[in-house]
Amino acid sequence: MLLSQSTLESVHRYCHHNRRLLERSSSAGCVHCGATFAPSEIRDWERDEAMTDGPATTARCPQCGDHAVLPSAAPIALAPATLAALQSYWFSGR
Ligand SMILES: [Zn+2]
Repeated sequence: MLLSQSTLESVHRYCHHNRRLLERSSSAGCVHCGATFAPSEIRDWERDEAMTDGPATTARCPQCGDHAVLPSAAPIALAPATLAALQSYWFSGR
């Protein structure tokens, strides 16, 4: 496996409430569809379901709309192979 189990599990944390992290990122990648894009391309943000007010801080992918955006400022290499490994871990055959 390309990535360790703990790395795979930790990704979830960077895909939620990641607005501040994205502001420090030069790029971002979607774990769902594999797209890479600039953080400035993100148009949709969603709020935690438990919150009824306050800022929406979880990014949605500009390509597929899923909240599976990994900021480049996260301590995980944002390479196509990484995104592919994460995608297969999170979205297929589990
Ligand atoms: Zn996507």
